[in-house]
Formats: sequence, C-alpha cells, structure tokens
Amino acid sequence: MPHAKLHIPGPVEVSEKTFKAMTSPMIGHRGQGFKDLYAKIQPQLQTLLSTKQLVYLSTSSAFGVMEGAIRNLVAKKVLSCMNGAFSDKWFDVAKKCGKQADALQVDWGSPIRAEAIDKKLATGEFDAVSLIHNETSTGTMSPLAEIAALKKKYPDVLFIVDAVSSMTALPINFDELGIDVLLAGTQKAFALPPGLAVFVASPAALAKAATIKDRGYYFDFVEFEKNAKDSMTPSTPSIPHIYALSSKLDDFFAEGLENRYARHKKTNQLTRDWAAKHGFNLFPEAGFESLTLTCISNGARPGGRVVDLVKLQKLVKDRGFLIDGGYGKIKGTTFRISNMGDETEATMNQLYAALDNSMKQL
Ligand SMILES: *Cc1c(COP(=O)(O)O)cnc(C)c1O
Repeated sequence: MPHAKLHIPGPVEVSEKTFKAMTSPMIGHRGQGFKDLYAKIQPQLQTLLSTKQLVYLSTSSAFGVMEGAIRNLVAKKVLSCMNGAFSDKWFDVAKKCGKQADALQVDWGSPIRAEAIDKKLATGEFDAVSLIHNETSTGTMSPLAEIAALKKKYPDVLFIVDAVSSMTALPINFDELGIDVLLAGTQKAFALPPGLAVFVASPAALAKAATIKDRGYYFDFVEFEKNAKDSMTPSTPSIPHIYALSSKLDDFFAEGLENRYARHKKTNQLTRDWAAKHGFNLFPEAGFESLTLTCISNGARPGGRVVDLVKLQKLVKDRGFLIDGGYGKIKGTTFRISNMGDETEATMNQLYAALDNSMKQL
C-alpha cells in the first residue's frame, strides 16, 4: 500500500525493525518469559526517566493513564493547567471523572508559568495539579523545572505531568524534579505504534492512591505497583508493544541518550530554520518552542507568510510526506511538523526538499 511518511505530531513513523520486534512469538503474561522481558526493560526505563521508582506499562493510550491519575490521586480538587487542546482535555477528564476541577487558563501558545500556579495553590483548595509539559497542539513547552520547584512550597499537592510528546526527546529526571506522576503514550517520541503508555508514580502518589476508594479497576495505581514488583502488569498487556518497546530502548541506549537529545534539538532547529527561510513566523511565544515539533503560524500570528495550507499539504503528500494542518481552534491558521522519534538530519532534509518543491508550486 502506498504510504505517506508521517511527520504529524503523533503517531509518528515506525521503523521496520520496531514492527519486526512486534512479531516475536507470543508468551503468557504470567510466565517467566514475560517477567524476564519486563525485568530487562525496567532498568532501561528507570535510567531513561532518572528514577528509582518502578515504571509501569499500560495497554491504553495516554488518556487512559491521565484518567487513572485523576481517579487515583484527586480527593479535593485538581488545578488543570490549560494552554492548548490537550491540556483543555485534561480539565474535561477531571470533570467527567466526577472530580472538582479549576482551570488555570492562559492563551494558546503561551507556556504555563510557576508564578500562576503558585497563586492558585496558595488558596489551599487543591490537592493535585495537572500539567502538560509539551502542549502538542500549539508546539509550546512549559518550564517543567521551574514548575516542579513549587513542590517544596506545596509538598501535599500532587503534580501530575503529561510528557506524552516530550518523553525520550529530552531529559526528564523524575526523582530530581520531585513530581508525582509522569506519563507518556508511546506513539509520539518513542516511535512505537499507538496502544501503549508508560508511567511512573512517586511514593506520595502511591500512598495517596491507597486512600482513595473509587480509584477504579483498570488503572488502579496500587495494582500497577504490586504487579510491577513481580515484573507483571495488572491485566493482560499488549505483549507485542512491549517487545517493540524493548527493541526501541536498546536503540536509545545504543545511540546514547545524550546523542538522542542532541539529535532532537538539532532536527527541531532545522525545521525552525526552514520556516524562517520561507518567511513564516512560529506560533509559540518566543523561548518556549517545543523541541519535538514545530507549530508554524499561517496567519494565526500577525505578519509572516500565509499560504494555501490544504494545497501545501496535498503537494507534500504527493511527494510522500504527511504534515499536520493545525489542531483545534488554530486548524488552518497554523501547521505542525514533527521531528520526533527516529528522524535524523538526513531524513528531515528529505522532508524540507519536498516542502521546498511544494512551496514553488503554490
Ligand atoms: C497525543 C497527546 C495526548 C493524547 O494521547 P492519546 O495517546 O491519544 O491518549 C495527550 N497529551 C499530549 C501532550 C499529546 O501530545
């Protein structure tokens, strides 16, 4: 089947090697083979996230774990930090789980700043905060270290962080940050097919979960911890995904995490350079641009170039690449190009060549 290579911000392109890893023969999830598999990747995941906590595997998309985090940790009220389509959804998730939630809303394209969270938490109303590290809809990264530093001032508030589109592309040191939940779906920077989420919870988060009565079944954090201690998952996981994750983690460490982070930074810079070369402005507030995708203004910001985006997408697709045409209320007035996963300077240059040639035909 003809396939346009994915440069949308998730799912991203999956390598042949990863797909091949998924076809390893099936094993029982309560048998030694599975325990050996999980025990092999556990320390790799712990190194990746700089944590001594056990890292859990959830057969779900990221939203499953988001919902789980809300159900397991919120007793009083959660502060939902909102600066784009995905963080807006976190607020809905909290309300649909029957939790009290309050919105900390800033303009799309602006980051969430510690100062604003501090003001809200000072009311004493909250026992949890939800935050998206890298708001994928706007290509905006919030300063995680600055925000996590608030933990010292509010030790009883649990910090839930969605790093769906940033985890593995830059260092996130879970224990050092002192946050309470960190989660990601694997179809973004991990470059696995969709269907698996990875997450970690602090001792405080686990202690809190144990006190919550209606924390649900499928995403019960206490069960995840209990099972992970035995290198198992609470229910039958997608074992093919876990084979793929194992293969991928080997790739990460063969490349070296520092090299992986530098590669994402470099390929992201190349995309920003491409946008500047063609007279486009970027959508995010300067200084807070994502390192895994580039959200380019196509009229959403004053000045800068505006093109027939639908036509550009089609021309690029005819050349074998899929780019995104904007998300939510900035669909059409922005477009997004992902550099997540396995992309290198060489593969990104192929995309820019296709974009350059397409621009000439507009
Ligand atoms: C993609 C994405 C999600 C949603 O993930 P699903 O796997 O679709 O549940 C959530 N948050 C962010 C930041 C994302 O980029």
